[in-house]
Amino acid sequence: MVDTHIHASQYSYMGTGLDMPLLQWLNTYTFPAELKYNKTEFAEEVYNKVVKRTLKNGTTTACYFATIHTDSTLLLGEIADKIGQRALVGKVCMDINNTVEEYKETTEESSHISENTEEVQIVKEMFPDCKSYTDVYNKYNLLTNKTVMAHGCHLTDKELDIFNQRGAAISHCPNSNLSLCSGLLDVRNVLKHKVKIGLGTDVSGGYSPSMLDAMRRALDTSKALTIQTSGYETLTYKEVFRLATLGGSQALALEDTIGNFEVGKDFDAVLVSPSIPGGPFDVFAGDTFEVMYFSSLFPYVVLICFLVRALLLKGSVDGISHMFTPKLEIMLEPKVWREAATQVFFALGLGFGGVIAFSSYNKRDNNCHFDAVLVSFINFFTSVLATLVVFAVLGFKANIMNEKCVAL
Ligand SMILES: [Zn+2]
Repeated sequence: MVDTHIHASQYSYMGTGLDMPLLQWLNTYTFPAELKYNKTEFAEEVYNKVVKRTLKNGTTTACYFATIHTDSTLLLGEIADKIGQRALVGKVCMDINNTVEEYKETTEESSHISENTEEVQIVKEMFPDCKSYTDVYNKYNLLTNKTVMAHGCHLTDKELDIFNQRGAAISHCPNSNLSLCSGLLDVRNVLKHKVKIGLGTDVSGGYSPSMLDAMRRALDTSKALTIQTSGYETLTYKEVFRLATLGGSQALALEDTIGNFEVGKDFDAVLVSPSIPGGPFDVFAGDTFEVMYFSSLFPYVVLICFLVRALLLKGSVDGISHMFTPKLEIMLEPKVWREAATQVFFALGLGFGGVIAFSSYNKRDNNCHFDAVLVSFINFFTSVLATLVVFAVLGFKANIMNEKCVAL
């Protein structure tokens, strides 16, 4: 999974002080804490922990923010490289900070946009000649196809159009958007404007380093929008998983290297063993129902293929018509009954397989009557299919023999 927005330096106080809105939160907790990163020993400890923890949670690629300190920022890159995580590391740049005077420098850049309404207002006052927050970035050529802007909760349709034109991406950080009461990003609308979008944990505005959490919070946000807006199309978990993987790779302009299992891309994935003892969740037989369905459907697919092939043979239709118009004198032959018995055992075998597959898929309080009828129907269907194949081939054989006789 790809975390498109995470502040490595904020990991040490993750989950604390989520009692205030963004700007107050930054001034009270973030800026003072980030001062400590001028000492590389402190940075080393936190950065080691954040890389290990996010890897454990399945983050194979992360777009990290460090602090304004060059040495410790370089250290973060080295640590990620050493532990084995693909990381894009950015040094934070900040020249306007009047609240915590010691924590600022003299270059100009940023990468959060329209996080909450108060912030949008302040930017408007600071840049009165710009039409919007996006316009501020756009004016200084900071919106390119390599730009990832976090949050974007309050972007207008016009601003999204600019994102689309510039190829800039949005990092949706639902946990932090909710924790700091910043806003609800309408992902559906972002996708409608064809703007690249991935998910971010935004530690520690977001209180979890896990991308699974980011996916859950993205669903929650979408559901909240559904409650507010009638007819709103809620995001599906598949769409959210796409945001956490391929979406993230597109946002970071890495879609040629990672994001899915296309041939030629890097294997940017984690191997998960769900049945490991003491794991964080339990696995039930029905959890693998797709495999179950596949294995119970497979014999029928094969039978149908055989039948289609058999029907293409010359004389097969005659054989099948014999199946439906049996002659009494033939039915008295013991050989016919022996062959019929083979068919019955074959069908029984498939039937038992079906029952086992169904009983392991079903929940405890399943409807046995329904299952019994379903399995009987499936058995009957199988027998008919198998017999059709046999008679079609028999008809074909008879046809060949006929032709031989005529030739003689
Ligand atoms: Zn952030």
